[in-house]
Amino acid sequence: MFDRIIHSLGVVFLCLLLTAPGSPACAAKPLSAAEPPAGPLGRYADVLQESGVRLGPDEVMTRLRRGEGAMPPRPAPDFGIGARPVWLHWRVENTATQAQIRRLTLETPWIDEVDVYVLQNGAVQAHWQTGDSLPQRQRPIAGLGFAFDLRLEPGTSEVLLRAASDDPMLLPTTLRAVDTAGDSHRWAHYSHGFVYGYLLALIAYNLLLYTGLRKRSHLLYALYLAAFILMNLGYTGHGYAWLWPDYPGVQRYVILLSMVLFGVAGLQFAARFLDLARHAPRLRQALQFLSAGALLAVITAATTGHQAATAWIAFGFVVLFAMVMLLLGALAVRHGYTGARFFLGAAVAGMSGTLASSLSVWGLIPFSEWTYRAVELGMLADATLLALAIAHRFRQDQQERVRAEHLARTDPLTRLPNRRAFREQAEAILSTAMRRERDITLIMIDIDHFKQLNDTWGHVRGDEALAALGQVLLAAARRGDVAARWGGEEFVLLLPETNQQQAVALAERLRNKISLIRLRCGDAEIPLSASFGVAQRRKETSLDALIDSADKLLYRAKQLGRDRVVADSGEKPEAHAGTTP
Ligand code: GH3
Ligand code: MG
Ligand code: MG
Repeated sequence: MFDRIIHSLGVVFLCLLLTAPGSPACAAKPLSAAEPPAGPLGRYADVLQESGVRLGPDEVMTRLRRGEGAMPPRPAPDFGIGARPVWLHWRVENTATQAQIRRLTLETPWIDEVDVYVLQNGAVQAHWQTGDSLPQRQRPIAGLGFAFDLRLEPGTSEVLLRAASDDPMLLPTTLRAVDTAGDSHRWAHYSHGFVYGYLLALIAYNLLLYTGLRKRSHLLYALYLAAFILMNLGYTGHGYAWLWPDYPGVQRYVILLSMVLFGVAGLQFAARFLDLARHAPRLRQALQFLSAGALLAVITAATTGHQAATAWIAFGFVVLFAMVMLLLGALAVRHGYTGARFFLGAAVAGMSGTLASSLSVWGLIPFSEWTYRAVELGMLADATLLALAIAHRFRQDQQERVRAEHLARTDPLTRLPNRRAFREQAEAILSTAMRRERDITLIMIDIDHFKQLNDTWGHVRGDEALAALGQVLLAAARRGDVAARWGGEEFVLLLPETNQQQAVALAERLRNKISLIRLRCGDAEIPLSASFGVAQRRKETSLDALIDSADKLLYRAKQLGRDRVVADSGEKPEAHAGTTP
């Protein structure tokens, strides 16, 4: 018993030693045709990379038998951008008595050349040649990635897959029964349908906002989302399967070009949204250079046929773009721009997704369905947060408009409505009173010898006097009354439902209160008094006429010696002389 345990440990140790990265592999575990593993097949494969000379399946098998194969480091082997062609090898065991059909898929639709061989007893039984450099129609099975229905005879079959591409050499593979293979694609189709639907709705919304508001940021945002959709259609294979199946030339560059377009539109949108032209013109200029440079570089590399260089530029730029967006968000929050928190949240969501997906495809972090599709989740959050940011902007603008309107109608010194605001309110109130034949009175008030007050005690004291008088009027006005600063040191008070007698009594009380205002300048006390003209509504009275008669009565009060109330007596102004207590 004890020596059997020691023996097993020895075997395990030997295998661990041999499967250490870089060492020649003990041939990988065979796959069971009856129960293939659920996840990617990397752990079951032997890997051989070509070294410049194109190999055939026989040569590869010979080398693998010589122990030249290696274990891939990850379930979804990744060799980075511009890697040399790679061979994957599996042994598949069919323990049944009949042949079985199993579907082998390679999920990454951007691999340029894909060859699959099935060998039995060392002889090639089947060979498929495809890749995204060939039209979609030539694929053995139409779909997103590459699929091959392998006929596995009883016993052991050898399956070889050769992949060659200048784009990231990421090789996630699966083996499934043909009838269950469709299930995983159904989930891919539905979830992508949701992502596209959501983003297309936001594009339409932003285009409508652009047509209505003519704000370029909405157009750029729609472009940013559209570039994302195009990029996603490209690298998921949806575009090649349904939109441009006859154009391998389009498929060859659409992913890389739309990646750069996505970044450029994102940067341009950010510059507009954060109004960098005003806040940080140098930074904006740097972003313009970066955008123009990336576009120029990727177009030059693509049109001169340098696919690997195009991929390097696209992936490098997108990673840089993600970092710049995060930086812009952080700067915007630090400087307190409107909607900056939403922008930063959107940038964090969108860019962590972009980083996770591009780095996993590039082979710099482990690939899984979650890292691969992280950019989609990130973009859904990004788009939602930016829609909220736009809503936040609207609310902010509206509040500002209300504030500006209030300021335009208010006298800043006394906080009373100004002449314009008074006119608007008074016209409406007067016409109601006329129609209903109700009493209404207007009092015109003017501070006595105000020029002298200014000259003697200074303008600051003059302003204090005006503000204090404003307070007295505000306190005296009932609901429905309108008190306003008419201009200079003149004030008006419109009193609906008030007859002349009541208005005169109010004016007297005001006169008294004004005389009680105590303004001080050092030890000295500044005396303050005002004169009043009280006019009531006649049968046919316009607001101007009412103001005019109150003004005339006020003039009369001044003539009669100031500090008094003069009211309309019918034909002749009636004076209520008073003395300051
Ligand atoms: P009267 O008793 O006849 O009304 O004489 P008055 O000096 O009050 O009248 P006048 O119209 O000659 O002078 C009004 C002064 O009010 C002149 C102007 O400098 C001053 N004034 C107008 N607006 C303001 C203001 O906002 N602040 C201050 N401090 N003074 C103002
Ligand atoms: Mg005056
Ligand atoms: Mg005056």
